[in-house]
Amino acid sequence: MSEAGDPSALWHDGWYRPARALPSPNFGPRPVGAQIDLVVLHSISLPPGEYGGDAVQQLFTNQLDWEAHPYFQTIRGIEVSAHFYVRRDGALWQFVSCDARAWHAGASSWRGRDNCNDDSIGIELEGLEGLLFEDAQYATLADLCPHLAQQYPIAFVAGHEHIAPGRKEDPGPGFDWARLRNELGWEAARFPPPTAQR
Ligand SMILES: [Zn+2]
Repeated sequence: MSEAGDPSALWHDGWYRPARALPSPNFGPRPVGAQIDLVVLHSISLPPGEYGGDAVQQLFTNQLDWEAHPYFQTIRGIEVSAHFYVRRDGALWQFVSCDARAWHAGASSWRGRDNCNDDSIGIELEGLEGLLFEDAQYATLADLCPHLAQQYPIAFVAGHEHIAPGRKEDPGPGFDWARLRNELGWEAARFPPPTAQR
């Protein structure tokens, strides 16, 4: 059976086999009965705008040397994570089982529900809000999202900027929502309204 025809071959306890796994301690249980129906897209790079290093992986595993760069001291001590991280070359990393609650969204609200960490899957794109993303990153999203939707009742995709407006701006105006929607072939109602897309 092909991978596409047997989703169970792609998943193990919420871990997506095609991703490179690097377990983070920054997670907790989801509320009982959580409907995991939202994908939240983020952007991150450490230091901001510098790509290709391993500081993000270090941050998500509480291994970052806060003294290694002046910017790191502005985020000293934070404990965060995401389920996935998509490098500029499209390489996919996973830090938290999708069955668990990763710490990526903070105070947030979407589709009438607060605390989006409870019932969402967080995907960080290596990048900087306001700048463009790579073809390879869209390709990885276009591959990952349908597999997520096979395993979880994914109904919506939104950016951190949409679920925490005024507080967060990622992934920002450089992210092409129409492109993602077209590549996934999902209806527009599953995405932020065009007025919220920039
Ligand atoms: Zn974010």
